[in-house]
Amino acid sequence: MPDVLQIGLVLPDVLGTYGDDGNALVLRQRARMRDIKAEIVRINLGDPIPTSLDVYCVGGGEDSAQILAAERLNADKGLVRAAVAGHPIFAVCAGMQVLGESFHASGKLVDGVGLIDATTSPMQTRAIGEVTSHPTHAGITAELTEPLTGFENHMGGTVLGPGAEPLGKLTRGVGNADVAATMDLSDGSRQRMAEGAVQGNVIATYMHGPALARNPQLADLLLARAMGTALQDLEPLELAEVDRLRLERLR
Ligand code: GLN
Repeated sequence: MPDVLQIGLVLPDVLGTYGDDGNALVLRQRARMRDIKAEIVRINLGDPIPTSLDVYCVGGGEDSAQILAAERLNADKGLVRAAVAGHPIFAVCAGMQVLGESFHASGKLVDGVGLIDATTSPMQTRAIGEVTSHPTHAGITAELTEPLTGFENHMGGTVLGPGAEPLGKLTRGVGNADVAATMDLSDGSRQRMAEGAVQGNVIATYMHGPALARNPQLADLLLARAMGTALQDLEPLELAEVDRLRLERLR
């Protein structure tokens, strides 16, 4: 367990428009509430990307911003090296698209970072609204039991390849892609119900909110992974306001 838990906030100057910086704040706060020293390392566009932080958060952004982010993450392989070394990465919306194999944005087909077996192309209509799902327990999310809740706002639809598993099985919202309306896939049912992606130590989602404020169990799972421990080894936190937010949002 590191002396001070280092939470990487990846390109907040580019992928910071949807409030997903809050995910890093939630991780830091939930660590501190347990007397675990933690700090956020902001990695701006011109900065080298450190390879040995304990956990990385990547947020959402507009199409033009995410093209910049992809170019940067493909030029400086720091995040890829961190992933290969087993450091957990949490990516939201444009962050998820950028970590995939490729995505369409601003009319261009752009190479993604390739950490998630996923491709993103435009849907017919923008998905905006509440999104809820049940954890699929894929890979490192095996310990999740609580329903997932967030807010989605995306034009891109993401199709997972066999290397990635969905994070959640949809109960509300569009999730990864409005498959029925936009794509002809033999694997349609799996894709239609899919929210997010899990591959290796990468957990990705379309949930804004910020997602980790709305989903404390997911936050603690990432924290546990960052600390090299199991979810059940973290001392529980009783936070009535978080419970109220969840109840209200899940209703
Ligand atoms: N630009 C991307 C899309 O519309 C991602 C949006 C976001 O990050 N919320 O699909």
